[in-house]
Amino acid sequence: THFGFSTVPLPDKQRRVDAVFHNVAARYDLMNDLMSAGLHRLWKDQLVAAVHPSKKRPFRHLDVAGGTGDVGFRVAKAGGPQTQVTLLDINPDMLAVGRARAEKNGLAGKLTFIEANAESLPFPDNEFDAYTIAFGIRNVPRIDLALSEAFRVLRRGGRFLCLEFSQVDVASLDKLYEAYSFRAIPAIGKLVTGDGEAYRYLVESIRRFPPAEDFRVMIEQAGFARASYTKLSGGVVAIHSGWKL
Ligand code: SAM
Repeated sequence: THFGFSTVPLPDKQRRVDAVFHNVAARYDLMNDLMSAGLHRLWKDQLVAAVHPSKKRPFRHLDVAGGTGDVGFRVAKAGGPQTQVTLLDINPDMLAVGRARAEKNGLAGKLTFIEANAESLPFPDNEFDAYTIAFGIRNVPRIDLALSEAFRVLRRGGRFLCLEFSQVDVASLDKLYEAYSFRAIPAIGKLVTGDGEAYRYLVESIRRFPPAEDFRVMIEQAGFARASYTKLSGGVVAIHSGWKL
């Protein structure tokens, strides 16, 4: 591609992703609000509404590519006293921001932070009641590995949920969205984080992520039953779901 990212070998892809999030970690939350005009908050609320952790029974939740904690915090708040959230990310800088936020909002006791790769999770089989990954899976070099690891660590009856950018369904809206993402997002990114290239990379990774239906099939191939998805905001994002039955 014109951004020069598409031909990079796998280990380089992860290295590039890590550099991006190292550079933007401190400003990541602000950027999300700016770029999505606050919409990412509603999308994450919807994702966590689908998790609905038990208020009464023990509930073990895993949030992968959890970054600065947005999804993990929501699950911890939605659950009961026996809800425990493991927030996993490959990037120590993102986790450091997440830890500091958890201390501030009094949720630290409900969360465990783990630095690890979505492609090889440091947990035994059948460990978790639910697994979420928000705006993370498109950054993982080998998506099939991440999906089979998700399947492995979920218990029978556990649910996989993924929030990710998708395809805008209306052609005229798509043109607008394309202009916004290819021009405005790197420009805002450069202003706020000083790193326009990082955000150009992120936009490019959205373009190269498989269409919702193809991704649904990948989820099925990893072993999940009743794989389905719901598009939100005209298809800007989708919530994918699958069950380990
Ligand atoms: N889930 C958070 C949210 O929605 O705000 C953060 C999303 S952020 C766009 C993507 C995250 O994926 C980054 O924190 C990055 O470090 C993480 N990531 C990238 N590759 C990963 C991998 N192979 N395993 C685990 N996390 C990874």
